[in-house]
Amino acid sequence: MAENKANSYEKLTQHRQEFVDQIINDVTTGKLFEWSSQHCGIPIRPKSLRAMVKNQQAREGTQKESPYYHGYNAIKLFMIAMEKNYPDNRWCTYNFAKKLGAHVRKGEKGVLIEKWGTIQKPVYKIDPDTQQIVPDMIQDKDGNMVQKMKNVPYVDYFVVFNVSQIEGIEPEKQKEFVSHVDENEPNQAMELMIQNSEAKIVFDQSRSNEYDPAKDEIHVMERHKFEDLPAFYGTVAHEIGHSTGAADRLDRSGITKPNKFGSVEYAKEELRAELTAMFLQMEYGVQLNYKNHIAYLQNWSKGLKKEEDVYEQWGEILRGDPNELAKAANDADKASQYIISRMIEKDLTKEQIEALKPKEEQKVTLTSGKKVEEIDVDSKQEPVRTLQLGGNSSKKKFRKRG
Ligand SMILES: [Zn+2]
Repeated sequence: MAENKANSYEKLTQHRQEFVDQIINDVTTGKLFEWSSQHCGIPIRPKSLRAMVKNQQAREGTQKESPYYHGYNAIKLFMIAMEKNYPDNRWCTYNFAKKLGAHVRKGEKGVLIEKWGTIQKPVYKIDPDTQQIVPDMIQDKDGNMVQKMKNVPYVDYFVVFNVSQIEGIEPEKQKEFVSHVDENEPNQAMELMIQNSEAKIVFDQSRSNEYDPAKDEIHVMERHKFEDLPAFYGTVAHEIGHSTGAADRLDRSGITKPNKFGSVEYAKEELRAELTAMFLQMEYGVQLNYKNHIAYLQNWSKGLKKEEDVYEQWGEILRGDPNELAKAANDADKASQYIISRMIEKDLTKEQIEALKPKEEQKVTLTSGKKVEEIDVDSKQEPVRTLQLGGNSSKKKFRKRG
């Protein structure tokens, strides 16, 4: 049964809608950026238990895999952990829990996450003479005729459960995070970000803060004019977030095209800048002061009077397109990665990079009786569904894999 592109896309959208509906309320009331005190007000990035187990098995000196979820998945899992009050930060599939000799408790509901990739597909065409479908041949660099290939994006879906929903895995140890940025002890990562900002930062403002795309300059108030250091870091992270959208950096239309204050495009770029700051906060365990920070977004006030109006406009955007949150999260993920690699980690040694990150317990202990060393994690995880977003229409199926 052939499905057209719109149908596949609708299904993808439908899954996102469910989650977005849940968080629109948080966005419109400003809660998305006001964290509960559960983790000292710091949003902690969700981790893959599978990657953690794999890293634990890796020999000394081997390249370890990042256990953290990124972009949309990171936001989704984080929000759900907050909502359900899960004290654990780690997630895995039903089958992986089984591999660990553990089990998901009866009646527990999992969370659908997405993993994007591309695969190479051969290209066919219709022969004008015979009207038959034939391979589309091209010459390769050695002069041989080969079938044309193209990259086709696909998305794999996995259902993951929080370790709090699983029996047989030792709960995480209490994390020792420095919850607040001490005025006398500035956050190293944030300071490096400011020091190595590619856009020039000018501390010349009395009330407002902004990024000027025409000059590629950030204009902010001096740090002592902020209520506290977290408010200062939050604002600068937000403005540097905007600067990553410049044409010679990540080329985001919210920055490269002129957008009116208060317009939808403008609001979308604001959401990206906020999420970028949030991802940096997750990465370095810094508590950024969003409440103050939003109040300082003076540009907004030209079209929108109150803080509540900002949140309401974000809510409207997300209501209008459930994919917008995923797009914003993925853009913000790229922006934060850019800031990390090009500014914060610039000129640092491996050891210095490690020292910037919050210390977290990475060791997995099982109470199921199995030993972590004995778990087979090498085989590819089977997604519950795969959706191809291009290529031959007959393959554009929402494939069930049990
Ligand atoms: Zn902004």
